[in-house]
Amino acid sequence: MTSANLSDNFGRLIEYLRLSITDRCDFRCIYCMAEEMTFLPRKEVLSHEELVRLSQTFVDLGVSKIRITGGEPLIRNDALHLLQRLGAIEHLQELCLTTNGSQLTKLAKPLAQAGVKRINVSLDSLRADRFKQLTRVGDLQRVLDGIECALDAGFEKIKINAVLMKNYNLDEALPLASYALERGMDISFIEEMPLGEISSHARDAEFISSEDVRNLLATNFQLNPSEHSTGGPSRYWEAEGYAGKIGFISPHTDNFCASCNRVRVTASGRLLLCLGNEHSVDLKQVMRANDDDQVLRQAIIEAMQIKPEKHEFDLTQEPQILRFMNATGG
Ligand code: SAM
Ligand code: SF4
Repeated sequence: MTSANLSDNFGRLIEYLRLSITDRCDFRCIYCMAEEMTFLPRKEVLSHEELVRLSQTFVDLGVSKIRITGGEPLIRNDALHLLQRLGAIEHLQELCLTTNGSQLTKLAKPLAQAGVKRINVSLDSLRADRFKQLTRVGDLQRVLDGIECALDAGFEKIKINAVLMKNYNLDEALPLASYALERGMDISFIEEMPLGEISSHARDAEFISSEDVRNLLATNFQLNPSEHSTGGPSRYWEAEGYAGKIGFISPHTDNFCASCNRVRVTASGRLLLCLGNEHSVDLKQVMRANDDDQVLRQAIIEAMQIKPEKHEFDLTQEPQILRFMNATGG
């Protein structure tokens, strides 16, 4: 049954859920995590049953798109089985996934068969040494092989996500764009957000605006603004001669909050109403205390009333949001 539409106090319709299924990861990207991390105890993490129940309830409330994320979602035990169950939810129009690509050589094909329509693969460098520096542990070749498998697997769309940092990988904006476009993929460049305290770099020193990146890309590509939208925060540009598009996610320089259509649920079942604020409701507690789905539905509907109007990130200050991106669900 799909019925009520979820809407907030600012007239925004919520149709998109980003659901984290683990805070753990096989990488340690320097902008996402500190070197030493503590992860959730297993009993705090939502079970498969709870994740399916939650997803079904959001779909009943009008959510049409669910993106599975983490941490690295594909290192969760039996992630494929979970995605198969989520893919079977009636009235869910789009099941998507964000991954670091490390498990795609074995999982790309079964994921596509499970009904995953779109995947985003994070890739910040095409140079093995630098890739290892940015992820602290990742193996570039394994990810590139995974992307090739994804290209063969039959997804509707594959998008590369790259976080650009001035002194680390800005010089790879052009090679990364060429890599994606020449393979028929989209690519989005992301301005780094101040989520969690890190010691590897000063986030403000690494900042590069989407506009500067676009100007850099325009030296090689003929870029035209596009009306294309995937219902996420990326603003797209067409690159003449290519089917794929170049997107920019610009939390600092082009605030997208007025058109926000999404909420997040962390791996521990915390419904986060905004990436850049702490307003939240503990849905794990609601689910574990009540078998009645009506109570869960009501908790979600009421939570929309505390969705903040916008995020206010300030790179020059200590991070106001102490939770890391892996805990939030990107
Ligand atoms: N492990 C998966 C991956 O890397 O794609 C999914 C989770 S990851 C948290 C989702 C996205 O968030 C990735 O594209 C990553 O680059 C991005 N991300 C992580 N920390 C970020 C930060 N501080 N600022 C901007 N983007 C960030
Ligand atoms: Fe892991 Fe993704 Fe965070 Fe990198 S960005 S540490 S791959 S969760």
